[in-house]
Amino acid sequence: MHSITRQLARRCTPSLSRSIHASRPLLRTDNPIPANDPNPRTPHSPVSQTNALPTSSEGSFDRTLRESPEQGEQMRVAQAPNRATTWARSQNPREKAMVGPRFEQTIMEDQPRPLAAIDLIHAQPVSWVKERVVSCDGGGGPLGHPRIFINTDKPQICWCTYCGLPFANEKNRKHIEALPHHSYPLEPLGTPEEVPKIGSAMGQSNTGRPLEQR
Ligand SMILES: [Zn+2]
Repeated sequence: MHSITRQLARRCTPSLSRSIHASRPLLRTDNPIPANDPNPRTPHSPVSQTNALPTSSEGSFDRTLRESPEQGEQMRVAQAPNRATTWARSQNPREKAMVGPRFEQTIMEDQPRPLAAIDLIHAQPVSWVKERVVSCDGGGGPLGHPRIFINTDKPQICWCTYCGLPFANEKNRKHIEALPHHSYPLEPLGTPEEVPKIGSAMGQSNTGRPLEQR
């Protein structure tokens, strides 16, 4: 009897181990449905009580590194400063960041939290052009991109497929202005997010300062 069990066990073992192996994905996929794990792991938070104690090292704001756990938790779950949630399916929310042993300094205020480019580009005003085909190199210089040619025949805002800067033909202005919704402002609003119009007399920047990372 025992030998049969052992034999069975031996026969079953390879397939069993294979199925266990298969249920543990080695690579992260975009499948958002979690596996039915009988022993779910408790979510780990990098926010620590230790961060409330002042340390001697200086942070990026020229003061002692210190953070209350409540404030840290609030900043941990907040996305980019100009964005409440994630904006792509392949993106992990910020609250999942910084878990694991490789992070030594977990004070949230000192972590990079850049503004979301998807919102910044949609704050750029439309460049009204008379040519049928315009080109965009993203403003040139180190922040530019290879030249992209954009056809402006269609009565819509035509954006650069590389950086997203919007262009539209003057002959379509009335039609575009009559549309109920615009994904870009039709005229400059003077907001700090605005970067220069390509080829404008002011050169690279409408603030007078060179292009910079924001
Ligand atoms: Zn571009």
